[in-house]
Amino acid sequence: MAGVIRRLDETVVNRIAAGEVIQRPANAVKEMIENCLDAKSTNIQVTVKDGGLKLLQIQDNGTGIRKEDMEIVCERFTTSKLQTFEDLSAIATYGFRGEALASVSHVAHVTITTKTADAKCAYRASYSDGKLKGPPKPCAGNQGTQILVEDLFYNVSTRRKALKSPSDEYSRIVDVVSRYAIHNSGKSFSVKKQGETVADVRTLPNASVVDNIRGVFGNAVSRELIEVGCEDQKLAYKMKGYISNANYSVKKCILILFINHRLVESSAVKKAIETVYAAYLPKNTHPFLYLSLEIAPQNVDVNVHPTKHEVHFLHEDSVIESIQKHIESKLLGSNSSRTYFTQTLLPGLSVSGCSEVKSSSAAAESGERVYTHQMVRTDCRAQKLDAFLLPKEKPPPDPEPADPSGREAATKTAQPDSVEVDETDDADMLEALAELEAEVPRGGEDDANVVQRKRPRKEQQQEEKDEGDTAAATPKRRVIKLNSVKELRAEITENTHTGLQEMLQNHSFVGCVNPQWTLIQHHTKLYLLNTTNLSQELFYQILIYDFGNCGVLRLSTPAPLYDLAMLALDSEGSGWTEEDGPKEGLAQYIVDFLKKKAEMLEDYFSMEIDQEGNLTGLPLLLDKYTPVMEGLPLFILRLATEVNWDSEKECFRDFSRECSMFYSIRKQYILEAESGEEQDTEVNSWRWKVEHIIFKAFRTLFSPPKNFSEDGTVLQIANLPDLYKVFERC
Ligand code: ADP
Ligand code: MG
Repeated sequence: MAGVIRRLDETVVNRIAAGEVIQRPANAVKEMIENCLDAKSTNIQVTVKDGGLKLLQIQDNGTGIRKEDMEIVCERFTTSKLQTFEDLSAIATYGFRGEALASVSHVAHVTITTKTADAKCAYRASYSDGKLKGPPKPCAGNQGTQILVEDLFYNVSTRRKALKSPSDEYSRIVDVVSRYAIHNSGKSFSVKKQGETVADVRTLPNASVVDNIRGVFGNAVSRELIEVGCEDQKLAYKMKGYISNANYSVKKCILILFINHRLVESSAVKKAIETVYAAYLPKNTHPFLYLSLEIAPQNVDVNVHPTKHEVHFLHEDSVIESIQKHIESKLLGSNSSRTYFTQTLLPGLSVSGCSEVKSSSAAAESGERVYTHQMVRTDCRAQKLDAFLLPKEKPPPDPEPADPSGREAATKTAQPDSVEVDETDDADMLEALAELEAEVPRGGEDDANVVQRKRPRKEQQQEEKDEGDTAAATPKRRVIKLNSVKELRAEITENTHTGLQEMLQNHSFVGCVNPQWTLIQHHTKLYLLNTTNLSQELFYQILIYDFGNCGVLRLSTPAPLYDLAMLALDSEGSGWTEEDGPKEGLAQYIVDFLKKKAEMLEDYFSMEIDQEGNLTGLPLLLDKYTPVMEGLPLFILRLATEVNWDSEKECFRDFSRECSMFYSIRKQYILEAESGEEQDTEVNSWRWKVEHIIFKAFRTLFSPPKNFSEDGTVLQIANLPDLYKVFERC
């Protein structure tokens, strides 16, 4: 029996159409954010309940909607942005179809509260199925619009059932808001769950694009960004953005692509970019990119469906090729020392017989046949030198796995454990330094520009409770806006030797020869590293990156700067001669001078000096690491003599140099400290510190400078397959 064909009820048609336009809460959020931006808003706040299925609220401070327009805003094809078909090709605003609000109102309860600049009060109206439910009612409200969407898909049970996980929907919403926030840096965005006071993503009006990327994606990536920008008049396109350099990679490619300020997807662009990066990144890893493309409007199909983000544009192949070239040139520029890297990856020498090799076996990819005699151990968990040298030693507890978020690790792990130092019999005063307490940084007073990512609630409360106390678990980081610091950071990044960095990240620790020299293995090669140079550079970089954010190593007994200065002047290293005048006068001068700098030293470097001229705290640079106090007197002296205090940048650089020298692993101090006294606990031994603190930090926190590959800091001393050949002959 043939079915009867009936015309569908109009509301059903509309509902089906609406379900096509808005498939999930994140689509609605995207459309509504674009409306806010069209209305020139500078502050957009999104509130969500149950992944947007229960409630979605978008509040802006834009132009508002005129009362007389409120009746029709939710009808299909009503828009204030387009009148003729020709307008379509030159459209500068996001919306143009007048479809978004209408669609939402067919599948949810919509309430709009809005006020224009010249209206005396705000008006509120509710809609269902595209129609106003009653006349707009006057109410109180600020300029702008609040769109409240409740019970999304209440009348589309199939769709509702398909969206099973509110938390998944919520993270899609956060994703959309974050991306628009990054693209619209200069405007502030926030997204939070209803009832929460702290936003999950929040950007502030004066934050930069990089600040916002840092806030959303973290420091590890924001540190490694290269700015890109190119333009081609013939192809009628412009591109701006930030891309990760060859030091950075992630498991999944993150491409934030805006075309003409609409968040879109383009698998063609993505594929092309991945091809470029393939030559720079380890296998199966991917870059991060934020790209904003502007293409002549007549060349792009702006009529993209809200759920179909995939876009195509005219001359796509040529534009993509041009983008590829630009990105390639930027990557090359940021990484001029790749020869080293390729050398260490020479195929043929590779391959390990051990099945457990992971990170360091990139070379094992080469397809060549491997004979047993060519196999080499490259598993870092296998035996180290210590096993042969110190057979009775119990291995120390395994260090925690490296924090993938990189730099943050240094502060995050800053627990208020008490840290002990090797005892010395040098001077009474030095003995007083023996007990240090680690303290977390002070809270972020000036994080006005920070993008804040919410931390778990518990920690948050803990922190509030402990305010001003020393026990906060995860301190807020202050954002440093000083150009001098930014420049010093850029110098470090620009001067990074990527090959060395990769080697240090993936090395197998072999053992310490002495405090100054350490052996590591990388792939099949054995390297001798100058621990003094490397650790000094490491501490320098930590001081620059954690500028204003270090924890404090609190001295149990304040150390008089005067005595420290006298000790230094008495030592050989000071270079003091009679011509310099009496030591006492110099020492007093140093005390008075450093007291004047105390406030700055404390604020920027967590170096604390009290009113009486005593040193009471030193920067906590790596968790559980305290410098050898034998170096302290000279450090104090050199602060007065070797630092250029007149120029901001030089001052920060010089201070960090001096401080890092004091913190570095130095042969002379360590041997002095050890002489006559037994090593106390293992955790305090320099060997343990080198392996578990310093070399661990090299895996995540370090950007080795280029000159280290040439100045003898890193020496290749053996290639294991060659050694095997030697043994064979015996
Ligand atoms: P379109 O954006 O394509 O015009 P929408 O359905 O998204 O269609 O919006 C319909 C109309 O409602 C818009 O043209 C605009 O006039 C008005 N509107 C929607 N959201 C806002 C807002 N946040 N602020 C001011 N006006 C808005
Ligand atoms: Mg719109």
